[in-house]
Amino acid sequence: MKYISTRGEAPPVPFVETLLAGLAPDGGLYLPQAYPRLPDATIAGFAGRPYAEVAEAVIAPFLAGGIETPALREMITAAYKNFRHPAIAPLTQLDSNVFVLELFHGPTLAFKDLAMQLLARVIDHVLEARGERATIIGATSGDTGAAAIAAFAGLPQVDVFILYPHGRISDVQRRQMTTLEADNVHTIAVEGTFDDAQACVKNMFNHKALREELNLCGVNSINFARILFQTVYYFTCAAVLGGPHRKISFVVPTGNFGDIFAGWMAKRLGLPIDRLVIATNSNDILSRTLESGQYAVQTVQATQSPSMDIQISSNFERLLFEAQGRDAAALRRLMAGLRQSQKFTIETGPLQTIRDEFDAFSVSEAETTREIAQSWREAGYLADPHTAVGLCAARKAGHLGASPLVVLGTAHPGKFPDAIARATGIRPEPPPQFAGLFDKKERFSILPNDQNEIERFIRASATTGATKRAAS
Ligand SMILES: *Cc1c(COP(=O)(O)O)cnc(C)c1O
Repeated sequence: MKYISTRGEAPPVPFVETLLAGLAPDGGLYLPQAYPRLPDATIAGFAGRPYAEVAEAVIAPFLAGGIETPALREMITAAYKNFRHPAIAPLTQLDSNVFVLELFHGPTLAFKDLAMQLLARVIDHVLEARGERATIIGATSGDTGAAAIAAFAGLPQVDVFILYPHGRISDVQRRQMTTLEADNVHTIAVEGTFDDAQACVKNMFNHKALREELNLCGVNSINFARILFQTVYYFTCAAVLGGPHRKISFVVPTGNFGDIFAGWMAKRLGLPIDRLVIATNSNDILSRTLESGQYAVQTVQATQSPSMDIQISSNFERLLFEAQGRDAAALRRLMAGLRQSQKFTIETGPLQTIRDEFDAFSVSEAETTREIAQSWREAGYLADPHTAVGLCAARKAGHLGASPLVVLGTAHPGKFPDAIARATGIRPEPPPQFAGLFDKKERFSILPNDQNEIERFIRASATTGATKRAAS
């Protein structure tokens, strides 16, 4: 299996290259040349199987020729061993037709753990086999960074640098990143927004000399492997609810469009999905885009669901590429428009293709608070603000059809106790893993939103570059 870039100006590469590169050298995002379809009987057979077995069946075809299946099996087992629920991604029913797929039982209590725990092991495995070291750089709006740090801390082949917007993530999110004692981990508070931090990471990847010096490796959701690993829970969930014989709709709290694109991919792999519902907070670029056809960037607003405070939704590029019939030249024109004027217009045909599969609803701050209160009152369910955005979008999507609506529960309520206390008067207990989080010493560096200064800091701190510099 080879992987192509959405921008069409980079050669097709094997899985291992997409894994280590993250972004393609032409600035595009990698996608597989084809989507290997799983037979209905295989999907039906997932019912009652452990998460790890389903993961292996879904993931292995994409790694063919790169990573041997027994090694993959071992890494999957290790990755999901530390989850606090034996189902890994259990399903909770809220009413006759609405379910929450709980993706927050991993070490950092948000859905990013499901992909990151496996990604770290696969990257370390590949680097070790090649006798290489790498520098992991990522931007986070809160949860990715914590998940990356939890997954990569102490791994021998990597240094990790995580950039986050200073003062714009929750205390728990920040402390999860800054209190871990591992010499290979560095957290950088950027004086800017998440989009600034993400732009800085993208620029570093486009800076060829730096990229080679540090052997940069990206773990943001632009990394195809993360998307791939996230398709697994769409399958396990559907199997529980009677798929493939019954269609299911998914409602996905969305920021960078990685999680919901994984749902789109699950559909391409053969899972019968009815609607894919994009749920956004007041940073509503995606619902505006589906409505008007114009993707127009506005300024980021800080909300109770900070992991979705995003205006440039990177993985939407993947969907655009597919909706335009994989026409890379057409995609390059849109992206040039975005660079020049912060907007572009999707043509009628591709827009219709997107609307045929997706709906989008934005949820205001007041609606989020009301939803947290209502789902607690009516179903006795404490939803974190991200999940609540999904639950509220599910209410708005209720008219779309009779298929069961599965809302992806993306974070544990204990991660956002303030928002929940405001809405319900109840302060969710911090789960046991948080014991002591507020007593530990924090380590982080505050840097201005300045590309050069951030690059200087990373070059000075990375052992990968230092080793190379010393050797040459
Ligand atoms: C990252 C994140 C999201 C958004 O996921 P995307 O893949 O970026 O769309 C939603 N909720 C939580 C809690 C997250 O951490």
